[in-house]
Amino acid sequence: MQEAFSDETLMNFALGVPLQRIKWPKLEALGIEVIVRRDDLVHTRLSGNKFYKLFYNLQKAVGKTLLSFGGAYSNHIHALAAAGNEYGFNTVGIIRGERPKQLSPTLVDALAWGMRLHFVSRKVYQQKESIAFINQLYDQFGDIYIVPEGGANLLGVKGCQAIVKATESRESFDAICLACGTGSTLAGVASALNPDKKAYGISVLKGYDCLSDDVASFMRRVLISQGREDFVAEKLKLKHKGTEEGCVGIGKQSSPEYQNWEVVSRFHGGGYAKLSDELLTFINRFESHASFVIEPVYTAKLFWAIETMACEGLWSRGTRLVAVHSGGLQGRRGFTMKQLSV
Ligand SMILES: *Cc1c(COP(=O)(O)O)cnc(C)c1O
Repeated sequence: MQEAFSDETLMNFALGVPLQRIKWPKLEALGIEVIVRRDDLVHTRLSGNKFYKLFYNLQKAVGKTLLSFGGAYSNHIHALAAAGNEYGFNTVGIIRGERPKQLSPTLVDALAWGMRLHFVSRKVYQQKESIAFINQLYDQFGDIYIVPEGGANLLGVKGCQAIVKATESRESFDAICLACGTGSTLAGVASALNPDKKAYGISVLKGYDCLSDDVASFMRRVLISQGREDFVAEKLKLKHKGTEEGCVGIGKQSSPEYQNWEVVSRFHGGGYAKLSDELLTFINRFESHASFVIEPVYTAKLFWAIETMACEGLWSRGTRLVAVHSGGLQGRRGFTMKQLSV
């Protein structure tokens, strides 16, 4: 069972992802080449970055019940349920909000794949990381392995390093762009990226100012866990070696000299899961020339940001960008047909 989750298996999945050049008139006119990493196709059932974030968590959870948290349209919950069904784990989803009369398509899939759904009020959901609530989960569900919301933990970050490794071995490029929620995918990508390249994370959240700090903190932890304390200490100008625990002590302040990455916060389009007219117009135009579909919560904001920043002159002629299509298409079912042609 453990071989199912070896480094080699992960790399084989990552290497199997198509790298596609797309037709994009505005970018072509600027002389900027875009290669799309179709991570929406990385696995037949666990789509996108959630596959990478779960991979090493699954390795560690063998023999246990997987438990995690999310909303009714969560890509992470969907991927976790699929992973349970595919690899033989029992799964429990703690779902935000009271059970609705009609389940979302996401939760219908999750149930069909054997996930136990446990609905909690928004108020209880906010307390989901409290010791009291976690202890209660152990009492109720037994031998569980808890994956944080969105798969955002150290093992999740490490899994996302494969996205970069499997791209650098096949293509040369100058920068890599991806959509950010928790920033754990960006941390994995940036920590594995050759320092002469840059990673851009497009935040989909409105008014969340700590994303850069979260990314920096994840990156330090992952580098330290890989025995690169000296590197971290040097970059942060520490007088002592960092330790993984010490990382918390280092504080969350960002360190510019450490950054081959950047969080871009002005393309939230009104906020999480909001579909503004401007974004909708962009999606329809983009999909008319692209050979794949995108969704409003994450990937539409990514491509919208790339186009806008390119038009603003951020990248010079001849730049080669990689755009990570991080999946999430199952969540598109949460938007009505009138808004989007499905
Ligand atoms: C969850 C998700 C993201 C955000 O990933 P983070 O690691 O939380 O930043 C991006 N794109 C899609 C499609 C997602 O489902």
